[in-house]
Amino acid sequence: MSDHRELAKAMDLFHFEEHSPGMVFWHPIGLQLFRLIEDFMRRVYQAHGFEEVRSPLALSRALWERSGHWEKFRKNMFFVGSFDADAEPDYALKPMSCPAHIDIFKFHKRSYREMPMRLMEFGIAHRNEPSGTLSGCMRLRQFVQDDAHIFCREADIRDEIGNFLRMVKQVYAAFGYNNFSIRIALRPEQRLGSDELWDRAESALIEAVQSLDYAYELAPGEGSFYSPKIEISMQDHLGRFWQCGTIQVDFNLPQLFDLSFVNHQGDLEQVVILHQAILGSLERWIGILLENHNGVLPLWVAPVQIAVASVSEKSADWAEVIFKRLKQIGARVELDVGDHTIAKKIRELSARKIPLIAIVGEKEAMNQSLNLRRLGIAGQQEIQLAHLEAELANLNWK
Ligand SMILES: [Zn+2]
Repeated sequence: MSDHRELAKAMDLFHFEEHSPGMVFWHPIGLQLFRLIEDFMRRVYQAHGFEEVRSPLALSRALWERSGHWEKFRKNMFFVGSFDADAEPDYALKPMSCPAHIDIFKFHKRSYREMPMRLMEFGIAHRNEPSGTLSGCMRLRQFVQDDAHIFCREADIRDEIGNFLRMVKQVYAAFGYNNFSIRIALRPEQRLGSDELWDRAESALIEAVQSLDYAYELAPGEGSFYSPKIEISMQDHLGRFWQCGTIQVDFNLPQLFDLSFVNHQGDLEQVVILHQAILGSLERWIGILLENHNGVLPLWVAPVQIAVASVSEKSADWAEVIFKRLKQIGARVELDVGDHTIAKKIRELSARKIPLIAIVGEKEAMNQSLNLRRLGIAGQQEIQLAHLEAELANLNWK
């Protein structure tokens, strides 16, 4: 197994710089990979009733004071100064999107007909982690998370947690992870709000998981400062567990921000917020994915799926025909008709972890075919160009 930073270098995905510790510089192919995962998640969230939003990175200190972050989370936040260098910082970069989504919820008076309201954002979060703890993509100071908030009634909690667990299952399986474990993290010592609210939030979580028949364990003291949470740890192919998904039942922020909706009876009723993420940090998810597959990603998420390589100049035209056809059907494809030997081309494309190579010589040009090599699998297979799309479908390329 290679470290994800070495794989990223071999695949030309991203790198780090000393002048921006804990933050990723995405290269074109790396950003392609990032976007594929983001688009996939966008479709999953849409299918489960979420609406995408976008909110500012910098929010005022007064807002963070109201949300409790100023008091409980300040040491993990980055502050942005005003134009007056001597003044106290006025803004903080958001470590999470909750207060901004609360602003969007509050902008209109809400009715029971709109509940549950599910908002999600690919939120850019900044967290000031100690420099000794930074570790490639696994722990960053700036990352994007699938940051979702469900505004609902207390009676909706169970169904929403059920929906969340179904999404987790579907998403993890798409990346080839079929095992995950559930922990319920309970009230920490440093926390907001009354014990009565914590009692209600914790029992809502536990009852929901029990009623859905999932096994779980309790983790006393490990909840966030405003709510208890379910933590999902997925098991990768190397047997390692990674905590990625989370859903939190929060009665505190709705109280602090006075969030309500008009219920069936025409009265104002306080909402509950569920904070959820399925991948967590997308950068970290990509780091795990790279290590797990040693760079040879599942075809549907490989940023370059196939390279077409000509054996000699005589087969360059046919290679170009194949390249164009692949482009036309939407494959992420590269063309290599350079002067190098085919052995050298295969070596270089394999080092870049491109999962499929279509090798094209004079014989293939005559047969209207190509020879398909799969990275990590010995041998190659001659396929008619007319059958290539069906072959890609067999390999789950979409
Ligand atoms: Zn949140």
